[in-house]
Amino acid sequence: MPTILELINLSTGYLEKKGIESPRINSELLLADILSCKRLDLYLFFDKPVSEGEVNVYRNYISRRANNEPLQYILGKVDFYGTILSVDKSVLIPRQETEILVEKTLEFLKNDFNSGEIKILDIGTGSGNIAISLILNCKNCIIDAVDVSQHAIAVASKNANKNNVQDKINFIKDDFRELAKSDFKYNLIISNPPYVAEEEYLTLQKEILNFEPKEAVTDFKNGLSFYEDISAFAKNKLLENGRLIFEVGINQADAVKSILEKNNFFDIKMFKDYNNIYRVVTGVIK
Ligand code: SAM
Ligand code: GLN
Repeated sequence: MPTILELINLSTGYLEKKGIESPRINSELLLADILSCKRLDLYLFFDKPVSEGEVNVYRNYISRRANNEPLQYILGKVDFYGTILSVDKSVLIPRQETEILVEKTLEFLKNDFNSGEIKILDIGTGSGNIAISLILNCKNCIIDAVDVSQHAIAVASKNANKNNVQDKINFIKDDFRELAKSDFKYNLIISNPPYVAEEEYLTLQKEILNFEPKEAVTDFKNGLSFYEDISAFAKNKLLENGRLIFEVGINQADAVKSILEKNNFFDIKMFKDYNNIYRVVTGVIK
């Protein structure tokens, strides 16, 4: 039977040859998952033999990763804002940048609204990552979370149940535009919409291109169409002094700011992510 160290070395070399970024960390994380331990615990047991059954599972994982399948889809889970969420290829893998969106939103929720129920709409909820982390960190929030994808709504509901917040989130399978027909209004509307332009889509890495749902990544237009449509929708769906808050793609912040201004939002603010890129744009409506 091979040892932990032998397996890691072999897989690291293989993933490296296949052009996978951070081959060693990928090899270690996949093995740690199979052995139900933390990645760094592997270092304490380098000489431990790994059973045949475990090696077979590992071989399958490594060949999937070598084929560019994202680590998170292989593991079936991701850590987002301190919570473990299930993911599969029907939902976008929650990104670190989106944690900034959640963090900024929580600051606004604390400052803008001091008491009573806060009604929130999450547009394009995907795995439910934004809605679930807002509820877990803001006890007086209630959320409508909408997505056109039936599969995404199924994953998001499962994640809400696992985190015991299902009573605070109402999942809706629909195009967000359909909600314009109801009279219900919100204190805050949040969205990380598909924002990659159609012409940029084909330049993305294989992990995204070959595995993540295309309709979660691109708007099939210039990348700004959801900001236009959601801003026009939101100005009629927000309560007085309600806030709209967006995640934006690289170099989109100024264009999104102009879209908000055009739709009469004021007090527009932009925030950077840890890579010094403007990622969050927000404004308020009278
Ligand atoms: N909120 C998740 C996150 O932050 O990781 C997923 C964001 S993903 C970039 C965009 C999501 O919008 C996808 O789940 C997609 O299915 C959904 N979507 C696309 N068009 C939509 C529409 N017209 N109405 C509602 N949701 C839509
Ligand atoms: N974050 C994805 C990317 O890496 C895009 C997700 C989105 O469109 N919101 O390009």
